[in-house]
Amino acid sequence: MDYELAVIGAGPAGVAAGIYAVRAGISTIVLEEKLVGGQIVVSPWIENYPGYENISGMDLAEIFKNHLKKYIEPHELEPVKSLTKTEEGFGIVTSKGKYEVKAVVFATGAIYRTLGVPGERKFSGKGISYCATCDGFFFRDKKVAVVGGGNTAAVEALYLKNLGMDVHMIHRRDQLRAEMRYQEELEKKGVNIVYDTVVCCFNGDEKLESIELKDVNTEERRTENFDGAFVSIGLIPNTGLVRDLGVEVDDNGYIKVDDFQRTNVKGVYAAGDITGGARQIVTSCAQGAQAALASTEVLGKQYPF
Ligand code: NAP
Repeated sequence: MDYELAVIGAGPAGVAAGIYAVRAGISTIVLEEKLVGGQIVVSPWIENYPGYENISGMDLAEIFKNHLKKYIEPHELEPVKSLTKTEEGFGIVTSKGKYEVKAVVFATGAIYRTLGVPGERKFSGKGISYCATCDGFFFRDKKVAVVGGGNTAAVEALYLKNLGMDVHMIHRRDQLRAEMRYQEELEKKGVNIVYDTVVCCFNGDEKLESIELKDVNTEERRTENFDGAFVSIGLIPNTGLVRDLGVEVDDNGYIKVDDFQRTNVKGVYAAGDITGGARQIVTSCAQGAQAALASTEVLGKQYPF
């Protein structure tokens, strides 16, 4: 056995799982296909993680990484290719090696949902973005659309507005899903919210030039010029690896867990966005910690609580 526990994914849930596991005396490997931080790396700012009144996602990710590194060196840029059940536990094949472990904490988060309309793929990276922090800078003083009505869309719209852009939020319903606090801020900052409207297609030549929109009540279509579009319509859980193990997921594809973050498969735990629910940094951290501590039950270690 190479390690007792593998933590797959190093967003807030995976980082917390790694820290708690090592502190509980569990030999642990943390595997991350990209960089430590997960979704928070691309969050413009965070205001609701206790202890940090206002911090950029990038800065918080750095703090998380440094904290984790006090205990363990995370394997960044090492995606897991396969995960199989073995007699003793689980076999993991990554882009760089093979590992045998006794237990696994899944903290692989979720990926951006796409609209799936014509032109979206063609102009992705050529005017269409899924990350305001990453790409907002390129659209300074320009006219941009933010598609979506949730917290992410609101935060991104505010971030882009603060960069001096002419921001138009396109939302399919007559009410935003975003927290009231953000709704008030959007109004205060003068973000134009276009309700009851969907994107039909993205148009342009080499790069995005206009968006065809449809009023869902009147069915009326119109084409409006935009320099950029940020698609912020939520996430899809990253459950590809676990399904092969027979781990149960709910109707939305999120992994089902009990109060101790156990899945239906012995030795497999899940934490963070991949389990759905509140999908907040604070809840992900708590779940990651809980999952790591719960894994002691299959490692023959004393349950620490
Ligand atoms: P979300 O809350 O699921 O919202 C997704 C938004 O996109 C909804 O307004 C939804 O419309 C819309 N949408 C979904 N599919 C669409 C489609 N095919 N076409 C057009 N619109 C579509 O996702 P999120 O905003 O990414 O947030 C994810 C989680 O992170 C949430 O739990 C959120 O609270 C959390 N978060 C928190 C903060 C914070 O600072 N507190 C910041 C960012 C994210 P409907 O409303 O009509 O369903």
